[in-house]
Amino acid sequence: MKLLKDVIVKKGKVRGEDVLKVDSFLNHQLDINLLNEMGKEFKNRFKDDNITKILTIEASGIAIAAIAAQYFNVPVVFAKKAESKNVDNDNAYESQVYSFTKDKTYSVRVCKDYLNSSDNVLVLDDFLANAQAALGLKDLVNQSGANLAGIGIVIEKGFQGGGKLLRDSGVRVESLAIINSMNSDGIDFD
Ligand code: 5GP
Repeated sequence: MKLLKDVIVKKGKVRGEDVLKVDSFLNHQLDINLLNEMGKEFKNRFKDDNITKILTIEASGIAIAAIAAQYFNVPVVFAKKAESKNVDNDNAYESQVYSFTKDKTYSVRVCKDYLNSSDNVLVLDDFLANAQAALGLKDLVNQSGANLAGIGIVIEKGFQGGGKLLRDSGVRVESLAIINSMNSDGIDFD
């Protein structure tokens, strides 16, 4: 998506070798016009898939999920993160997610009331790196008996391998921008 790539080049900040900061439009301040265009693009890519629910993970997936959901006219469910591994809620699906940006493992949970076997789920998230978040969300979908229609990602860092892992396992992944490499001199897209 050219508009997104242009904004990434203009406003993204590369930190170290593998972290892209996009606080000015996606992760702290939100560019609603850009989010709307991305929401329309996700709808366009999944328009024939009869999506019944969008699933994301708190906190940074919520903005794009909520905006995109307006074009699908479906509810958004966001998995909640908890640092404890204890299941304190019998009525929840739970999985473990390791965050490489925070170097921490979280439990992620979705209440059983909000995902079920009649759902056709689109998972949306802001970034795809090693696919730990995506695999955790996929696990929650599987536990619920719902169908995973696909995964939509705003920014995929192709060099970290999560996209390949998911696609090789048969999951449909649609990324609006795929970064092949990045460093302080610039960002190279697919
Ligand atoms: P993964 O689980 O695919 O390894 O990483 C994806 C998650 O980590 C996303 O939900 C996102 O919040 C965070 N993340 C991964 N890489 C980056 C990055 O380069 N920049 C930002 N801002 N977040 C990232």
